[in-house]
Amino acid sequence: MLIEELTKNSQEDKVLFNVMEEMVRRTVDEKIETMDMCKCEICRLNACAIALNALPACYVTSRRGNLLAYVSGEMLNFKSQVLVETTKALLMVKNHPLHDAK
Ligand SMILES: [Zn+2]
Repeated sequence: MLIEELTKNSQEDKVLFNVMEEMVRRTVDEKIETMDMCKCEICRLNACAIALNALPACYVTSRRGNLLAYVSGEMLNFKSQVLVETTKALLMVKNHPLHDAK
């Protein structure tokens, strides 16, 4: 689930949120535009899965209203690591698009 969906409801509810997933989704969407490869939803999700398996999980519990601030803080700590793993994952999907096998 993306952070925009999480934060549009009650600001006071406590939520469990994997910051790493949010970061990887955003980075995949950004990086895939700069690469000469298929940009379909399946390739995006496959790249997310590969990158997330290579990265540590980073769960936080927070009030919905605080999530955005929390996430931006955590993003700085992991930025270069996420970029490296996301780029590797995108190259893997580019070379072996999984949706070609029917
Ligand atoms: Zn594709």
